[in-house]
Amino acid sequence: MGIEAFRKLSYGLYVIGSLKDGQINGQIANALFQVTSDPPTVAVSICKENLTHSYIQASRKFSISILSQNTPMTFIGLFGFRSGKNMNKFEGVNYKSGTTGVPVVLQHAIAYIEAEVTGELDCGTHTIFAGRVVEGHILNNEPPLTYDYYRDIKKGKSPKNAPTYAEPEAKPRSEKAPKYVCTICGYIYDPGQGDPDANIEPGTPFTELPEDWVCPVCGADKSKFDREG
Ligand code: FE
Repeated sequence: MGIEAFRKLSYGLYVIGSLKDGQINGQIANALFQVTSDPPTVAVSICKENLTHSYIQASRKFSISILSQNTPMTFIGLFGFRSGKNMNKFEGVNYKSGTTGVPVVLQHAIAYIEAEVTGELDCGTHTIFAGRVVEGHILNNEPPLTYDYYRDIKKGKSPKNAPTYAEPEAKPRSEKAPKYVCTICGYIYDPGQGDPDANIEPGTPFTELPEDWVCPVCGADKSKFDREG
């Protein structure tokens, strides 16, 4: 069917925040776009299984925090690979309550938007929520994180509930120090890259990582990793 062409689509990475019954939650989304400028309207695709989906359906509003290119993988992992059903993702995160009451992530954000839902489109596994923009502020002038940069430079993956998720490809084995794959999120530890966010130097084999090192994306410990291939 040729869906590899999808990989040529460009996206950003955003934290979508919402609330329900006094509880707040947020998640990473990449499928988001401006629909019109008058009235200013945006739309975002959210997986029906995600907690944020039920929050947006209940409150009819959501925030969008546009992430900086410098956002660490651990932060993306917190909002993108963990579920608010099991934890409060906002604990220890710099955020504020927006004018519409939704949580607005400020940490690693370069701008944010608040929107009120004006329509939704059922797309099977996902719902596209269109929302009229009621707030929008630039926070700084760092470059935005694009999905391409996240995948190619930061070596990030898509969780199963992301619109861009694809089954992992089999890769040829390398003769050098082996790569290790996180069985939880699919992150690949590449010794040639190390883990800059955790101050792990390039050239560090997986077996020499500190015992308390964790997956930079989902937080799983070393025992959850398998040798690639
Ligand atoms: Fe992981």
